[in-house]
Amino acid sequence: MFWNREIETIERKDLEKLQLARLQKALAAAATTPFYRKVFSDHNVDVSKVTTLEHLQDLPLTTKHDLRLSYPDGMVPISRSDIVRLHASSGTTGKSTVIFYSQRDVDEWADLVARSMVATGTTRDDVFQNMMGYGLFTGGLGLHYGAERLGAMVIPSSTGNSLKQIQLMQDFQTTVIHITPSYSLHLVEVIKENGVNPPDLTVKKAYLGAEPYSEETRDKIEKLWGLEAYNSYGMSEMNGPGVAFECVHKNGMHLWEDFYIIEVINPETGQPLPDGEEGELVLTHINREAMPIIRYRTRDLTRIIPEECSCGRTHRRMERIKGRTDDMLIVGGVNVFPSQIESVLMRIPEVGNNYQIVLEREENLDRMYIRVELYSKMFHGDLNELKRLNQKIGEELRALITINPRIELLEPGSLPPSMGKAKRVIDNRKI
Ligand code: AMP
Ligand code: ZN
Repeated sequence: MFWNREIETIERKDLEKLQLARLQKALAAAATTPFYRKVFSDHNVDVSKVTTLEHLQDLPLTTKHDLRLSYPDGMVPISRSDIVRLHASSGTTGKSTVIFYSQRDVDEWADLVARSMVATGTTRDDVFQNMMGYGLFTGGLGLHYGAERLGAMVIPSSTGNSLKQIQLMQDFQTTVIHITPSYSLHLVEVIKENGVNPPDLTVKKAYLGAEPYSEETRDKIEKLWGLEAYNSYGMSEMNGPGVAFECVHKNGMHLWEDFYIIEVINPETGQPLPDGEEGELVLTHINREAMPIIRYRTRDLTRIIPEECSCGRTHRRMERIKGRTDDMLIVGGVNVFPSQIESVLMRIPEVGNNYQIVLEREENLDRMYIRVELYSKMFHGDLNELKRLNQKIGEELRALITINPRIELLEPGSLPPSMGKAKRVIDNRKI
């Protein structure tokens, strides 16, 4: 199923022609803003000399710090009266940054989201319960407008209030949900506690995004809920959700290249990497009036999947985000991504739905504690079994990350549940 077959299956050479025309327009608009006027002048960039897509690689990168420097509207080329909305990043790291939209931007964003939802088989007959935060965060309103554009019935339930969520799902026969992976793992337990078998609900599909999660977590969510889960990627700097989305094949996310130019760079040197190699994703929004952002360093680590997708879409796919360059932990000199720890934990059947990584400095040495909730059936008094499990988790983690974490096994519900983006890592070493 396609939302716009022509654009989604466009020949690569036509796509590149469209990208170049849009890029030139975006650069010309950016050059009129206070921020880029200065950056381009400092780097001797003449945007009228950008005549190929490759020339983009000679332009300076834009960072989150630059967005803060240009706060509030140093990157806006249009007049205040043409702006209809603003959103802000959820501040995954540091102070939030603000993004502006014109009416056309809001409309086209809804279109991209509708396109993404249709790629997973959603139709106007679906009932869509949106359990992402409404407000400055883009997750709620972003999918909301897209689902309405598609014609689905939207339940704007936002995050939290789990009992109400369950009632809404039951009363209105929700078929598609939008939810963070961490909240979905909490909610599914609340559903069970209320005597409902999650697969008996009418929910058939989940859109999971806003935070990194492993393939093993996706599998677990699919099994517990009895649904198909699709990965959804976006960030406020690039509109919000609808930047990249999985199609029915669930094998990497199509990045909508008529709106975004993708690059993957070596995060240390800033040099572009060929397709297939892992690095930091850099995105240029080439079709936004209120805020053209050029070569934005997302901090997200991924790789482009070079092979074509059998769905027929020509827009390239990117792999699940491995983590952010700024969430890599260095523990006793060893580099570890929380996603690596998560993938080990979620493979172990006794492990429940929540965990936390705590880092301490003890006698000048880094120490990692992993606090893991187990399923309640594990707590029936057999201490030897728990000891064996503790050992097994420790060994599997050590085999992958080469450090020796201390494992703490907990009863379900011991750790704070997550409603939005989960806070998995508590690093007490910096204090
Ligand atoms: P925000 O701008 O506050 O919406 O945060 C955007 C950030 O959330 C991205 O840069 C990613 O780090 C993270 N994120 C969003 N969607 C996903 C996803 N599907 N997988 C992993 N990380 C994601
Ligand atoms: Zn596909």
